[in-house]
Amino acid sequence: MCGIAGYMGSGNAISIITSILLELQHRGQEAAGIAVATRDGSIHRVVGKGLVVEALSYENLYLLYNLDGIVGGIGHVRYSTSGGYLDSQAQPIVVGDNSLKIAVAFNGTIANYASLAKAFGFGNVNGDAKLLSMLLYRLAKELGNDVVEALKILPMYVVGGYSIAVLTSEPRVVVAKDPHGFRPLSISFANNELYIASETAALEIASPYPWREVLPGEIISFDGRSLEQTKSPISRFVSPCVFEYVYFSRPDSVFNGVNIYVSRVRMGEELAKEVPTNGDVVIPVPDSGRAAAIGFSKVSGIPIEEGIVVNKYVGRGFIAPPTMRDFIFRFKYGFVKDVVNGKRIVLVDDSIVRGTTMRNIVRRLREIGAREVHVRVASPPFRYPCFMGIDVASRDELIAWRLMDLDDIARAIEADSVGYNSIQGLRKAVGIPLLCYACFTGLYPFRGLDVDALEKSFVR
Ligand code: AMP
Repeated sequence: MCGIAGYMGSGNAISIITSILLELQHRGQEAAGIAVATRDGSIHRVVGKGLVVEALSYENLYLLYNLDGIVGGIGHVRYSTSGGYLDSQAQPIVVGDNSLKIAVAFNGTIANYASLAKAFGFGNVNGDAKLLSMLLYRLAKELGNDVVEALKILPMYVVGGYSIAVLTSEPRVVVAKDPHGFRPLSISFANNELYIASETAALEIASPYPWREVLPGEIISFDGRSLEQTKSPISRFVSPCVFEYVYFSRPDSVFNGVNIYVSRVRMGEELAKEVPTNGDVVIPVPDSGRAAAIGFSKVSGIPIEEGIVVNKYVGRGFIAPPTMRDFIFRFKYGFVKDVVNGKRIVLVDDSIVRGTTMRNIVRRLREIGAREVHVRVASPPFRYPCFMGIDVASRDELIAWRLMDLDDIARAIEADSVGYNSIQGLRKAVGIPLLCYACFTGLYPFRGLDVDALEKSFVR
C-alpha cells in the first residue's frame, strides 16, 4: 500500500508535492520520494527512508530547490507490499536513456512481477515497482516513446492492481488507474495546473480547484499546455478494493463517490444489527475502529466512550517484525480505568488480521477490571492474502485462516464473544454493487490465479 502525488504547473512543484505527500502519510511510512522534471528535459530525484518530514526534509531537498526551470513532478510514500521490512525500495523509480526518461510512482501490487521479469528478460528485478517501471519503459519504447500508449496496453500483462503517476523527460505527467479500479486516484485541474493525489482529501487541502476521481482504466496526460484524457481499450471486471473503505483510506476521502467515514459508520450500524450483544459501553480501538463504533452505538443504544488512548508517535505494530509487535503494543495504547472498570465492554475495531492487537487489548481491559469483553469487527473474517496492493501476512499468520470457528477465535483473543460483519453487511454499508472482497472470500477477480505460488513469491 502506498500513496502517490503529483503536480504540473507554474506553482512551486516541490512544496505542493511535499504537502500532498504529508496528507497521504497514512498510506506509507517506510520511505518517501519526489522526482521533478526541468524544462531542459532532465529528471532529478530525492528519496529517503522514514516519514515525509524525515525523508523530504529541507536539507534533503536542498538540491532540488536550487534547480532552475522545474515544470512539475511526482512523489510517493511507501508501504512495502514486497521486498521485506528493511529493503525499502523508495519511489519514484527513474529509468530511461537520452531519448526518453521516466520516473514512476505507483500504488498497488504487480502479483506476477517475477514471471514478467523473466518473460521480458529483465533478470532479477528487486520488487514489483522496479518491474513496473522497466516494463512501462519497454512498452513506451516499442510504441514510439509514448507512455500513454504504453499505459493503454499495460493491463494485458499485469495480474494485480495499480494506480500510477509517471513523469517523463518530455516533460509531461501521466496518471492512470488499472481497469479493475482497485486503488484510489484523483486529480484536480484548472488554469493550466494539474494536482494529483491518491486520495481526494489530500486534494481538498492542497489544491484550490475541485477534484475528480480517475476512472478505472482511465489515462490522463498533461504537458503544461493541454490535458489529454483517454482510456485503455482493455476492459476488466470493475472491482475497487473494499479494504480502502474498511481501513486504508482517510475518513475524509471519497472513493467511487462514497465518503469513507460515512461507509464506516454504516459498517458499525450493520454490525450492531447482524451480531448484537449486551454491554454497558462501546469502546473503539483508536483510530481504526472509531467510526464503526459510532455506528454500533447508534443502532444498539449502548453509549460510546473513549476507553483506549493511542500514542500516535509510536511506530506501527502491524508492519513491525513479529518479535517487536507485543513490545510496540505496550507503548502504543493507554487505558482509561474509570471507563472500563466493572463494565461489560463492546470493543469495536475495523478488522482483525493476526489477532495480536485484539488479544493484547482484551487482556489489558480485563487487567483493569472489565467484567466482560465482547469484540465486534466491522469487516468479515480476514482469511486470504491480497495481491492487489494491501500488505497482509501470509495465510498461516491470519487468525481467521488458522481458526475457522468463531468460538476458537474468541478463545484465542481471550474475549467473551466475537462477531464479524457479513459480506452483505459490508456491501450494504459501502453501497456500491461492485467491490473486491478477495481478502474475505478468496475469490480473486483474475482467472486461474495460483495463490500458493504467488504467496511464496512474496518476501515480506
Ligand atoms: P493484527 O494485530 O495483525 O490483528 O492487526 C489488526 C490491526 O491492524 C487492526 O487494528 C487494523 O486496523 C490494522 N490493520 C489491518 N490491516 C492492516 C494493514 N494492511 N496494514 C496496517 N494495519 C492494518
